[in-house]
Amino acid sequence: MEVLFNRPYLTGREAHHLARVALSGKLSGNGQYTQMCQDFFRQRFGFRKTLLTTSCTDALEMAAILCNVQPGDEVIMPSFTFVSTANAFLLRGARIRFADTYSDYPNIDPEAVRELINQKTRVILVVHYAGVACDMDTIVALARQHNLCVVEDAAHAVDSFFRDRPLGSIGHFGTFSFHETKNIISGEGGMLAVNDERFAARAEIIWEKGTDRAAFSRGDVSKYGWKDIGSSFLPSELTAAVLYSQLEKFDEIQLKRKLVWQTYYEKLKPLEEMNLLTLPHLPEWASVNGNMFFLRVREPEERNELLSFLKKEGVNAVFHYLPLHSSDFFRPLHDGRILRHTDHFAGCILRLPFYNEMTENEINYVADAMERYFVNK
Ligand SMILES: *Cc1c(COP(=O)(O)O)cnc(C)c1O
Repeated sequence: MEVLFNRPYLTGREAHHLARVALSGKLSGNGQYTQMCQDFFRQRFGFRKTLLTTSCTDALEMAAILCNVQPGDEVIMPSFTFVSTANAFLLRGARIRFADTYSDYPNIDPEAVRELINQKTRVILVVHYAGVACDMDTIVALARQHNLCVVEDAAHAVDSFFRDRPLGSIGHFGTFSFHETKNIISGEGGMLAVNDERFAARAEIIWEKGTDRAAFSRGDVSKYGWKDIGSSFLPSELTAAVLYSQLEKFDEIQLKRKLVWQTYYEKLKPLEEMNLLTLPHLPEWASVNGNMFFLRVREPEERNELLSFLKKEGVNAVFHYLPLHSSDFFRPLHDGRILRHTDHFAGCILRLPFYNEMTENEINYVADAMERYFVNK
């Protein structure tokens, strides 16, 4: 049996919605499908304003502009994340300060953030790893105390919560990804959630290449022109139509993904009870959104051995992230601090195959292969 790492889920309604866009003749961005998708997220999760983007990377770049990050300003973020989290702010000339994670979960540790705050700090950026909430009470309190902007990289975190608050709705900005490896997909795609009314008007201008074209489309102004810096951050209606097909099935998709997560958890629990691996432990404030299933072993050699064993058994597990602070690009720019927990997770985390349509049979097959590895060791 071969179990793929990811299989993008299509709902079957894509062709219908794409054909509607084609027949309407309106292919460019900010049309009906874009509006419907943006409304869905606003209504369901209470974001103040939502803007579809062509990626989460774009949404992060918009957030960096909106936080008004200037050359030399410092941005505190985890190193255990995807490159876009940092690149978006480097593009504005920011200095990136990487904070370590907790010892038992790869989310940013607010105490490590506190130690890095100084006169130049402008932004705290959190990543809700695998959809599990960071400690937003402490992060927001720190930001208020020092007058900082909070950005939530919620690329993993659609439909997940900090206590009863949706992730992406707590910071000034939340950024989402609809890349085909995430919960809800449109091939490439993303969204910026703006939660502070003061930034809403400027966000729309930056989104539309620095013009007030969105206001013009609504009939709020009689002509549009150049108002600010900006870029072409909005996706075409074709992308929005694919995203809309997913939103029609939002609850089914999420139900299925959470079930896959739960099934993995139960099947692997016995291995954890034998102290062979560690499953993700959730803080009391966090929820599960079925983003991915990861676990960790004690040391990198074991992780790599386990990965090749699984590969031989037809199970396509993977690892990530190569920590940003020790990447080829950033190493010379890093301040030299050792990020012990980050390095541990980078060496010991393993991600199992995960997709909506995974059968119980496939999950069992993966869990049995894991068990065989440990039994034969
Ligand atoms: C996937 C991901 C991104 C980038 O998303 P794109 O939509 O591919 O640009 C950013 N941050 C994190 C944490 C991610 O997992």
